[in-house]
Amino acid sequence: MKKVAQSTCVRCHHIYPRTEMTQKTVTSHSGNSYGVYNLFGGSGTKKAKGSARVHYRKKQIWVCNDCSWDEMRNIFYMVTGLAAMYVYTVYM
Ligand SMILES: [Zn+2]
Repeated sequence: MKKVAQSTCVRCHHIYPRTEMTQKTVTSHSGNSYGVYNLFGGSGTKKAKGSARVHYRKKQIWVCNDCSWDEMRNIFYMVTGLAAMYVYTVYM
């Protein structure tokens, strides 16, 4: 008998066997934003270097297939929505 590891879906918080889930890697960072660091530390000022430290953390998350489809549908709606908006502003 083969035991399948289970995980909690980050979206619906249900527990599913991992065979029915999709694993995703998300990168989260804490500390000062990289954009701000670039703006003030990127152009030659040496003493600004090292004052802004960015910590990146990779996180493994599990999403069940239902939520995965849901996510894809949301992205699809968002993209078609933006396209519709673009067409509206260009041709109206
Ligand atoms: Zn889910």
